Order: sequence, then C-alpha cells, then structure tokens
Amino acid sequence: MTIQNTLLPIHKGSLQPHWIATAKSKGFDIVARVVDRLHLALRCHQCGALNKVRLFTLMNSQPNCSACIEQVWASDAAAAGLEFLSRDPKNRHYGLYRAACGHQLRRQFELIKRVAALQTGVRCETCHAASEIGVAQARGWHLLCPDPEGDQNYRLYKHMDCGHEQRVARVNMQTGRFGCGGCSEDWVAAPSFLYAMSFTLSNGRELVKLGFSRDPGSRLRYQLQRDMDMPCAILRQIPMATGQDAIRLEKRLHAKLLREHADCVVDPASYRTQIRVKSEIYDARLTKTILGHLDKIEVQAA
Ligand SMILES: [Zn+2]
Ligand SMILES: [Zn+2]
Ligand SMILES: [Zn+2]
Repeated sequence: MTIQNTLLPIHKGSLQPHWIATAKSKGFDIVARVVDRLHLALRCHQCGALNKVRLFTLMNSQPNCSACIEQVWASDAAAAGLEFLSRDPKNRHYGLYRAACGHQLRRQFELIKRVAALQTGVRCETCHAASEIGVAQARGWHLLCPDPEGDQNYRLYKHMDCGHEQRVARVNMQTGRFGCGGCSEDWVAAPSFLYAMSFTLSNGRELVKLGFSRDPGSRLRYQLQRDMDMPCAILRQIPMATGQDAIRLEKRLHAKLLREHADCVVDPASYRTQIRVKSEIYDARLTKTILGHLDKIEVQAA
C-alpha cells in the first residue's frame, strides 16, 4: 500500500502521541509512517503538500516543506524577471530558470534573491555573448561608445589590459583582426613620435604634456581630450624610427623633468575631468624646457 499520489509505501506501526504533538507544533500533520520505521509522511499546514521526513529530524529540528521552499524560489524568480523551472539536480544551492529571452539559466538561489531585491542584475550569457558588448569583452575590450567620427561600421573600444582606447571596425572586433595601439607587440617596432601638447583647463590653468604615440593626433583627439571644448594643441612631434626608441627617450626625459622640476608636476585631480590621463602632465612653465629637449633629440636623431 502507498500513500496516494506518492510512491511512499506505508509502514505499519503505531504513531506515538508525542510525535503527533511535536509535528503539530512545527507546522505539520503526520499522515502515516512510511518506507520504514525511521520515516514519516508529514502534511504541511501552510500548503498541504506531503513531505517524507525522518522521525529523527522531526523530533530534533524544524523540518522543511519542499513545496513551500520551491514556492519561495518561484516567487523570487518572478520578482527577478525569471521563471523558476526546477532545482539543479547536481547542486542543491542552484536552480534552473528561464530568462525573458527564452534561454535557460543556472543560478544560485541566493543570487536570485539579491536580484529580486534589486541588489544585482542577472544577464543571459547566451544573449550577452552574441551582443556587441559580449563580443568585445570576449576579446578583452570594453565597448565605450559609437564611433567618434560617426562611421556606423566603427565603435570606440578600451583595451582591458592596458586602458588604451581606439576605434575598431565592428567586423574586425568580431574576427579579432586588429592590434592594440597601446600594448600590442608591433608598436615596439613600428615608427612612432615623441610629442608635446598644450591644454588650457576650464579654470584657465595652462598645462603641457610630454609623451609618445604612433599617432599623436589620434591620441589627443580620441584618448586624451575628455572635454571637447577644452583648447588644446600638438606643439611639437618628433618622428622616431621605432616605438622602442620613443618610449626609451620619453621615460628618460620624464625622469629628468621630475628630478629637476618637481614643482611643475600637476596633481591629476585638477585635470582628470578634462584630460584622460593619470600623469605626464606639467605646468605650462615647463613648455620651453620640454620643447628645448625635443629640439635636441630631433637634432641627434637626424
Ligand atoms: Zn508547504
Ligand atoms: Zn538569452
Ligand atoms: Zn592594449
């Protein structure tokens, strides 16, 4: 004989009155002893569902109603914009859900609670991987915005490794056929420039930046210039045979300037809302000195 709608065989044995009282006090009615002398079938006062519970569990702790727990998971899921499908048979902390897009997600119950409480979000990996953001992230880039030059086939991206920002054709991002202008190996061998640039902040303060780049114009326009209304200009650019030469001379020059003109180093907090860089910026008092050094380097290079 089994209990209706379950496959639990009834165990013929008497019920102790104190079991019945304990079950009542914990929110259940004992329907029968089931399976063997160690188990009971308990009906949940809350939802009416039957649960197979060990006698030991009933007497020593609070038994859970699995139907009530699933009900909580389902309502958490609904509040998180998902449909609860089932618990993950492989891990009791995880559930399987259907997302609004139709894809199935596997998530921790605790995470879904936090999503329901708007403390975090949940996104479909399948849809995300197919999105432009996901394609870029899979290649190690953040998608920043549409192309600053307005070309529909391009986007502006930022390299996660080095922070370098550059325009990349969408098709090249998909195929990976491009290099990072900030850190890829070929900048070492490619021709480059040392440059000096001037900036005038909105508070009127004038600054000078010394640096190197394969393309100082693009560096200024697409990377450094955060505030498009800020007056700025390339004061000088000196061609270098390779990026390797450029970085070596640039580092040496910065070290010299720091040593001899530490008072001209400007606190990044004063320019970071207008210029997208963390250092290598000096007070414009140093402009003549920097241009003088660049002139000398140009003569030596020639
Ligand atoms: Zn229940
Ligand atoms: Zn999806
Ligand atoms: Zn890079």
